[in-house]
Amino acid sequence: MLFTYWECQKNTRLAKETYALRYPNKDLKERSVIKSLFPTSRLVICLFHTLRTFNREITCEKLGITPDERDSSKKFIEQLCYCKNEKEYQEIHTIFLSQAPHQVQMYFEKNWHDIREEWVTGLTFQSGNFLNTTNNRLESFNSKLKSVIPFFSNLSEFFKQLFVVIKCVRSERDSKTINLVQKLPTKKIENSDEYKYSMLLTPYAFNYLKKGLSCTNKTKILEGTSLTSCSCAFYNSMKLPCKHIFNKRRATNHSLYDEDICDKRWTRNYYYKSQVIFKEPLKLCEAVREVPIEIQEKKNTRLLSANEKFRKASVKASKLAELLSISSQFNYERRMNQLEQIIKNVNQPSTSSGPDKNPTTNKFKVADIKLPTKIKCSGRPKGATQTTIGLPIRKKQIKPIPYNAHNYLHKENLIIEWLTNKTVVNKVRKDKYLIQSKDIKHYSDVFNGIIENEVDINTVKSYCSNDAWKKIIAVLKQKKKNITWCRKKEKESIRPNRGTHNLYE
Ligand SMILES: [Zn+2]
Repeated sequence: MLFTYWECQKNTRLAKETYALRYPNKDLKERSVIKSLFPTSRLVICLFHTLRTFNREITCEKLGITPDERDSSKKFIEQLCYCKNEKEYQEIHTIFLSQAPHQVQMYFEKNWHDIREEWVTGLTFQSGNFLNTTNNRLESFNSKLKSVIPFFSNLSEFFKQLFVVIKCVRSERDSKTINLVQKLPTKKIENSDEYKYSMLLTPYAFNYLKKGLSCTNKTKILEGTSLTSCSCAFYNSMKLPCKHIFNKRRATNHSLYDEDICDKRWTRNYYYKSQVIFKEPLKLCEAVREVPIEIQEKKNTRLLSANEKFRKASVKASKLAELLSISSQFNYERRMNQLEQIIKNVNQPSTSSGPDKNPTTNKFKVADIKLPTKIKCSGRPKGATQTTIGLPIRKKQIKPIPYNAHNYLHKENLIIEWLTNKTVVNKVRKDKYLIQSKDIKHYSDVFNGIIENEVDINTVKSYCSNDAWKKIIAVLKQKKKNITWCRKKEKESIRPNRGTHNLYE
């Protein structure tokens, strides 16, 4: 079956000679089938699934290692996964071989080392994977399907919902396409080469190319860089000109604009041609005769849980409330009376015929209650504290935000805090407190950044009393007189510890 499936895929989509097939896991049978059918294509294993496999396979129980050995081995393997090139891989691999326990080495060498170009991030870029290392797009579609199609639906229900999903996905795609054509940039692009590229490529591709184009550091030219190609990961993965190619062209006085270095798939022309919305609507095939299909509806005999009953009933009840709210006062009162009657009836013990008629059925044992089986979640790393491979998440360093990028209120707060302290800032904001001269710190305790040109001290004048303002002016004068310059390394030590802003950025 697998063979037939991929054979179909081959006939329908993959006419090109090379193609990066992304596969979620390392299933040996599937791999051999795919490889035999697409001998020139390269197989790429999803990064998320690679890391998850390592997490599942490198355990103390399976390999007989200590928790410390497991964690250190995982650290090495995680580094190997994110290697940028073969050289880096070899370096880390050598250290891994010298330090990792024997069992882990055996497992790794047997299963992963020889196929490293399928899972090491830097090496997978060589296959032209458009910088996509996971199969998240497919997973995203899968989750859409799951959210719309109920778990235990029959075939007719399944197809009904499937077409709902497909229709939504298609209309989303079409609206994106139309947006791309109709929307024009509000900012004019000054650079003529950049403008030409923006007209040639789709916005998605152009955003990637723009970064390379604006990178003017001339030293960055690799050994394998020519005017039309490069050996770097970006070029090989995206088939778009990289910063190296642009720098080479600058260095040799060639025009930066060249249509031929961009892959055809990124051009607007190609995009317009391949989008269904711009194509003539397809004429439906006229079938010779209609094929009658009969699907027997499955009777829903499943018992609903109290929660499900409540949910369904509350939909009806809220509809009722909505209808009642818009009816006239007379009708409203009449219907409310009817409602009360209904509630009374429902509340009474049931005397109708049916399974409840026999009072013995109400006697049940707790052991007889069948709870639905727990459905295992998949597709996401467990917990927010661990990475996919099972190591604790490293906290990202907070990037300092330039002073000018802050909101004006935040800037005012900062200035007040430098001159006084946090409590005063809170008092000013909450109790509309007027800053007094006794609140102002000694000039040597005030943060040096206050004398920078970007800092407009006048913005806080309205929060200060006359005396305080005079003192602030005096403090600034003193500060400018006694300016102390410091080397970059020492900056942090003399500055108060403020992680979220940096004037020198
Ligand atoms: Zn390059």
